[in-house]
Amino acid sequence: MPSVSQSDRPLLIFESEVDLIVREVSHWPHLETGGDLFGYWTQSGAAVVCLAIGPGAGARHHATSFYQDARYLEREGLRLNDRFGLQHVGEWHSHHTLDLPHPSGGDARTVRDALARYRFERFALVICTLSLSRQAAVEEVSLQGYLFEAQRRDSYLTSPWVVLPERSPMRDRPTAAAGSRPLPRVRFGTGRCTMNDLRGGPPERRALETLGERWFTTPAGQRRLGDELAAFERAGLTAKALVSPSGDLHVAVLDDRAAARYLLPTDYPTTAPTVRWAGAEEGAVLTRTIAELGVSWDRDTLLCELHASLVDRNATEARVEGSDPAVSDRGADDRPSRQDGVEVEGHS
Ligand SMILES: [Zn+2]
Repeated sequence: MPSVSQSDRPLLIFESEVDLIVREVSHWPHLETGGDLFGYWTQSGAAVVCLAIGPGAGARHHATSFYQDARYLEREGLRLNDRFGLQHVGEWHSHHTLDLPHPSGGDARTVRDALARYRFERFALVICTLSLSRQAAVEEVSLQGYLFEAQRRDSYLTSPWVVLPERSPMRDRPTAAAGSRPLPRVRFGTGRCTMNDLRGGPPERRALETLGERWFTTPAGQRRLGDELAAFERAGLTAKALVSPSGDLHVAVLDDRAAARYLLPTDYPTTAPTVRWAGAEEGAVLTRTIAELGVSWDRDTLLCELHASLVDRNATEARVEGSDPAVSDRGADDRPSRQDGVEVEGHS
């Protein structure tokens, strides 16, 4: 299984070509579609996508596969090469609602075969995913950029995006006729930076270059992260998994009762998370290990369950501090003493 690491080589693309891809992806909300990317490579090995093409009339679209119209690809490739000197720098396809923002094993094999067959040094792969509204309209299209290199046999890189804010000078006509449907929201799932960021140094996310193989990039880790987020969703809580510039994964949870951030270590779930907690005490942000909170860790525990137990403890702590109005209405005799609270917290 390839490992994923962050590239300091972004994927540059004209805004008009992003529009073309997003429009095509949202046209097929339940089937794969795709196309190819034409442009050139910079000195530092970043792809500049000048023109994106769609699937062609003879393409075959299935739920979990897509076959480009090969004659269309060849014809367009020759035309763009003759006219502008552009080269085939990559391809894009949609995983629509498959919940797979990464290249599949088959995708990675296909690209590697192509690198070998055509003796390419590198090739860009864009994976698109989408989300649907309750009315089944395409609400958001997310674009993920990946870079495969001939010398890097067992891994590929993720590329942040640079969107060049123009219609591609090589595109004769706008990508859509006036009055056509508005585009859904676009998300750049592998990050976004500007040319200015590149001139001023590496992109913001460069620290992720050292990401290497982390628990959440493995298939088992991906499943675990999916389970974690699904459990929060079932509990009616908003949880977001965020990768920090240092490459650590956080899960941020927004709850009416407390805002918590769980830092998941590199060998999660073997090692327990650390908790940053902005709870009942106003303005106080606490960072605690699970052990410090008096909770033992079991690798089968989901964060959502841990979160629920910490919220319960926090409610107890609030009663101890006497800051919970529901509690202060109660008779003094019913109130747990400060000392009881300390025992509950495991701080004694
Ligand atoms: Zn795929």
